[in-house]
Amino acid sequence: MKRLRENLAGTFMWLVVATGATACLYVTYTFPPGRIDGYLLLLAVVTAVIGSRIAIRIPQINVNITVDDTFVFTALLLYGGEAAVLIGAFAGVCSALRISRKVRTVAFGGGALACAVFATETVLKLAFGSTTNLMHGDAAVAVTALCVMGMVQYLVHTIIGAIASALKSQQSVWYVWSRNFLWISISYFAGAAGAGFIVSSMGTARIWALLVCIPIIIIVYFSYDRYMREVKASARYAEEAERRRAESEHERAEQAERHVQELNNYIVEQERISRVLEETKEHFRHAAFHDSLTGLPNRAMFTELLKAEIESAKQKPEHLFAVLFLDLDRFKNINDSLGHTYGDLLLVAFAERLERTLRPMDTLARFGGDEFAILISGMSNATDAVRVAQRIQDELKQPFVLDKNSAFATSSIGIALSSTGYDKPEDILRDADIAMYRAKENGKARYEVFDQAMHARAVSRLQLESDLREAVERKEFCVYYQPIVSLQTGRLTGFEALVRWNHPRRGLVSPLDFIPVAEETGLIVPIGEWVLAEACTRVREWQVASPSHRSLSLSVNLSARQVEQADLLERIHEALETSKLNAHCLKLEITESVVMENAEAATLMFKQLRSLGVQLSIDDFGTGYSSLSYLHRFPLNYLKIDRSFVSRLTTDNDNAIVRTISTLARNLGMEVIAEGIETQEQYQQLRLLGCEYGQGFLFSQPVNCEAVLHLLAQDAHRDSSPDLHFGPVAAEEEVTVGYSM
Ligand code: C2E
Ligand code: MG
Ligand code: MG
Repeated sequence: MKRLRENLAGTFMWLVVATGATACLYVTYTFPPGRIDGYLLLLAVVTAVIGSRIAIRIPQINVNITVDDTFVFTALLLYGGEAAVLIGAFAGVCSALRISRKVRTVAFGGGALACAVFATETVLKLAFGSTTNLMHGDAAVAVTALCVMGMVQYLVHTIIGAIASALKSQQSVWYVWSRNFLWISISYFAGAAGAGFIVSSMGTARIWALLVCIPIIIIVYFSYDRYMREVKASARYAEEAERRRAESEHERAEQAERHVQELNNYIVEQERISRVLEETKEHFRHAAFHDSLTGLPNRAMFTELLKAEIESAKQKPEHLFAVLFLDLDRFKNINDSLGHTYGDLLLVAFAERLERTLRPMDTLARFGGDEFAILISGMSNATDAVRVAQRIQDELKQPFVLDKNSAFATSSIGIALSSTGYDKPEDILRDADIAMYRAKENGKARYEVFDQAMHARAVSRLQLESDLREAVERKEFCVYYQPIVSLQTGRLTGFEALVRWNHPRRGLVSPLDFIPVAEETGLIVPIGEWVLAEACTRVREWQVASPSHRSLSLSVNLSARQVEQADLLERIHEALETSKLNAHCLKLEITESVVMENAEAATLMFKQLRSLGVQLSIDDFGTGYSSLSYLHRFPLNYLKIDRSFVSRLTTDNDNAIVRTISTLARNLGMEVIAEGIETQEQYQQLRLLGCEYGQGFLFSQPVNCEAVLHLLAQDAHRDSSPDLHFGPVAAEEEVTVGYSM
């Protein structure tokens, strides 16, 4: 289609060229030879050089306005149509050459102008006769002729141009002509007027007219050119602005793309962060409900599960469950002696072993330290829980082999059953805990099922705790003294200070009832300090008062909590200073278990105590699990054989134990004190075995200060014979047990 159009346009253009060429040939043929002169040639040269040069291109519409017309019209009016056609063709070619080197375009430029001039000349000749005389006749005719000349020239020339353009662009001729050529008619009329002016004013002096004409044309041209340059500049400016706009749009688009990219990256990063956050949350969620060492559920999770279990039990009364509370026996000991890493290994192995004994629906949790809990769900009857506890105890009979060491670990288990009807997880856990403590008290490595009696005991214990706090504030304690006698001489050598709680409602409360609670709550520290100060003062008084008892000794019990106190040494020093009691007279009694469980700290503390000058006794010897091999490490002076051995001192067999202990003590440079001598037989046996000292109901029960004075007086009046001096002393019936523990 495009090609066809091009062909049509081309054909038309060549047609115009052919017509123009024919016109040129025709006028050459008809050119009157006499008309050619130097001025004509000069006109032809000026047309070629200036006319074609001074072409003003109108941007956007692609049209060139030339000043050729002025010269062509001048030639027409001065020399006639023949010269005008030839100069026109020449001017057309020169103008076209300025814009294109294409043969067709150049030929068309010449052809079109030749045709237009030929047509104009023909019309003028037909209308007005000769063209060369037009400017010398009637002015009105001359003006009309100039108008016709400009009009015909304009119409023919522009219509030829419009047709060629319309054929190329496939638009209507009228559209192309009205858009592009309508307004340039001015240039033709101006050309015609200019030519008219030149020819009429020139008269015979043609050359001068021509020379005057040139500068005018040049001035017109340059001012017009300047105007067009400004138009172009503003067009360029507009183009530049457009380009900048396009560029900035491009930039904006790029920036937007960058932003989108950044946003994408941000979103990706956010997603990554939120994933990390999710993982972190999950980690924390897991950490919040799990124990980090064993990975087992922790107390918080166990409590949640228990809550759900309680709810099910409320809805279905036949739904039975139980909580087992477990505590490893003597775990502290394992941790202290074998190290925390080993302790951790043991806990993990213990947890694994427990899990093996449970069904999948049961839950094992670690509450911290060596405390574990088990939720036994969906039991058919209450004995199921007991069976689980039994299974666990059986499993623990095998040693744990960890890190090439093997160790036995037993556990005390408390069981609380849902049949008791619980509302809150805390309650059932508390009861399982109470039962576990009961199992510990009853000898460890066993289980106990919680019952109402236990509950009563627990309540009683809580009451005891609060009463004890008040007792410390109100100073409701007193010290009783139990004589210690030399088994060889029968003489009174000293006293053991034994604390009593003078309860306002319950009377005297045994230390066996409140010392464990005082230990647990830490109240033993102020109580112990008071006992020490009080007893030191009393014994010093008795030493002073009774000349035969100047070296009377005082035994004071120290609890584990006191041994841990940093200022213990200071307190003892203070008590001795205040009472003026000789340090050598003070014997501090520390139970075997306290010594063994804090071996490292104890050794250091004992050395410091010894440096004060005080003596040290190991109390209740034989009841702890202690290894005899440890004993020599401690700087001890006395060894107190526990009452349980003394009470069995009737048969020859049992004597062996006491004999062994005595021999051991002697080998370690210690003296032996036998506790709980109640019979003559025991007394005699112990004497025979070489025990140095003894105390027991046979001699005297623990008594108050008044009774002590009486005992001292009695002792001072006796001979120093090996016979029994201390006949069974009927001390007052002193201890009432106010708390059922
Ligand atoms: P302990 O230090 O082994 O004291 C000896 C206990 O045996 C005393 O019990 C005493 O009354 C009792 N006893 C003495 N001879 C006989 C006897 O022939 N037969 C029987 N069955 N018992 C006898 P008590 O006074 O009830 O003291 C119990 C424990 O309380 C003491 O055992 C001691 O460990 C602790 N204790 C007493 N006073 C204090 C104290 O001031 N501080 C500390 N930390 N513990 C104390
Ligand atoms: Mg004692
Ligand atoms: Mg004892």
